[in-house]
Amino acid sequence: MFRKILIANRGEIACRIIRTAHRLGLAAVAVYSDADRAAAHVALADEAWPIGPPPARESYLDIDAIIAAARASGAEAVHPGYGFLSENAAFAEACAQAGLVFIGPPPAAIRAMGSKSAAKALMLAAGVPVVPGYHGDDQDPDRLAAEAHRLGFPVLIKAVAGGGGRGMRIVADAQEFGAALAAARREAEGAFADQHMLIEKYIEPARHVEIQVFADRQGHAIDLFDRDCSIQRRHQKVIEEAPAPGLGAELRRSMAAAAVAAARAVGYVGAGTVEFIVPPGAADAFFFIEMNTRLQVEHPVTEAITGLDLVEWQLRVAAGEELPLARKELRRRGHAIEARLYAEDPEREFLPQSGRLRRLRLPPAELARVDSGVREGDTISPYYDPMIAKIVVWGEDRAAAVGRLRRALAATAVLGPATNLGFLARVAAHPAFAEGAIDTGFIERHRAALLARPSEVPAAAIAAAALHRLAARASAARAAQTAADRFSPWAENSGWRLGEPAAQELVLSAAGRSYRLAARRCGPGWQLEGVRGMFAAALTLADDGACRVTIDGVGRSLVVLDEGDALAVSLDGETWVMHEIDALAPPAGEELGGGKLTAPMPGKVTSVLVSRGSRVARGDPLIVVEAMKMEHTIRAPVAGIVAAIRYAAGDLVEEGAELVALEPAAPAEPG
Ligand code: ADP
Repeated sequence: MFRKILIANRGEIACRIIRTAHRLGLAAVAVYSDADRAAAHVALADEAWPIGPPPARESYLDIDAIIAAARASGAEAVHPGYGFLSENAAFAEACAQAGLVFIGPPPAAIRAMGSKSAAKALMLAAGVPVVPGYHGDDQDPDRLAAEAHRLGFPVLIKAVAGGGGRGMRIVADAQEFGAALAAARREAEGAFADQHMLIEKYIEPARHVEIQVFADRQGHAIDLFDRDCSIQRRHQKVIEEAPAPGLGAELRRSMAAAAVAAARAVGYVGAGTVEFIVPPGAADAFFFIEMNTRLQVEHPVTEAITGLDLVEWQLRVAAGEELPLARKELRRRGHAIEARLYAEDPEREFLPQSGRLRRLRLPPAELARVDSGVREGDTISPYYDPMIAKIVVWGEDRAAAVGRLRRALAATAVLGPATNLGFLARVAAHPAFAEGAIDTGFIERHRAALLARPSEVPAAAIAAAALHRLAARASAARAAQTAADRFSPWAENSGWRLGEPAAQELVLSAAGRSYRLAARRCGPGWQLEGVRGMFAAALTLADDGACRVTIDGVGRSLVVLDEGDALAVSLDGETWVMHEIDALAPPAGEELGGGKLTAPMPGKVTSVLVSRGSRVARGDPLIVVEAMKMEHTIRAPVAGIVAAIRYAAGDLVEEGAELVALEPAAPAEPG
């Protein structure tokens, strides 16, 4: 076995690999771009080497920089993770030339599977069924159109060099073909610098079922069961599970055999995944689409049902050992599901989001395995994949796993950029998901239900936020008092105070509405008025944000994250972001952004609408910031005079940066 390995990656997969390396007693070397100087994977590694500026092309994709770091650090082997250079044959070769072991397949196997067309030709020759289509060299648009016609619409145009769902277009009829081909070519040229396309019959409905394979240098090649990854958006996976539900034993066996044949056909070594399209309900039909010559994002579901550590297997195989187990020694137990928590906005076509994770609560270990590469306070940068965590649950059967997924998501909360948490919770709660009625059209078909967030903030969420704030006020008051005079009789902590008002007032805004609440002490809890009548409420808190709110005697678990002016309350997987509004300030108009003159998220100043000394009225636009492809207008929270403008058009701003300083002024008397 090696003594020291370098991980040529970042985020959760780098952390995940480092953990196994440490468990096996290996030293782990991280690499990092300037954007990741303080990242979790850097903190976790034994040493960390800088490899360049934030853009991946200049750091995590820079072969020379990574090889130089590996050599300088004395690492003996390089684990590429997934994405970045993991399927780059030139990188695998460069490692070998530098005397480093590449923890992955031989460069020839990467190359053979790197082109979807060449891979399909190889698979046909190996007797593996492939999706009907055209994967020839002739790239003349007329030829491609004729092939599409021959296959019959709908067809799928796919970039031969593709990945990540890019360079792909579904074409419904002949009229659309030319424009779709041109668009797919442009996208593929931008993403892969390669315009070659293949045409496939678009299979609909379809399930994405894949087989985990493993091979060693001694000639063993086996499968480690299957996974279903049909819950996809933009042809990209969001929820994966193992085993694939509802497949016949015969179909499972044939797919596994085909996958192992595929691995053998290219002289495979290490971990790989062979992906198939399966028409739902068909007893024996399955079609090869591609082989990923690396560890998959969703490998933890296979680990959960087999009890194995696939990274350990990768390290052993790369070090020249035989596969730790033979196929007949593998045991599969129960059912596992992985949900990918992303900073993205499901309501805006799942647009990636960035920003600081002001507060973050992930499910506890009793509920789920959590693989994450970020911590509370870290920033999801616009440079890389916006994944926050993979939440992996296990149960004795699928129903138990689905139930645990719901509970794990309900125990999760993020205060920071928008996430897909509510969306994931709605998938997990959907009856069709519970039945296992899944295919790649699931999200599109159930779109309305999956995007519909309840229109009213539940009273329990408002009550929990309010009581959390009241508890914070009380402890701040106690701390101030204790600091002032530790020995004073007034520092005594009974909850009774001289002159304490009969009711505490609190104004919370949530989902575009504001709630003016009055709270009175009542026994161990509170009498709360202002949200749907009056009720008795109490809150018990744990350190990690988990709470129990009791309303008129009925208790519910939820999560409250509280920081600065904002709170996030997560109830049944739905997150409600609320702001406490200063009850004494004049009521704010809806565009006033809580009275802040700060950037709502990292972005770029597009225009400055006032100058120093300008007199502005409340609500006047001051400055416009573009962030995540949206414009945000910062308006004056009160009438005043512009005292300073901190940025000019074109400047990049951090989240929370003060943009304009405003001196409040008495509004001009009407003349
Ligand atoms: P990429 O490498 O870009 O991820 P894939 O070839 O793996 O592209 O396909 C991504 C997804 O697109 C698949 O998981 C599946 O949902 C869908 N898909 C691919 N090929 C077909 C097909 N021929 N018919 C229907 N759906 C397909």
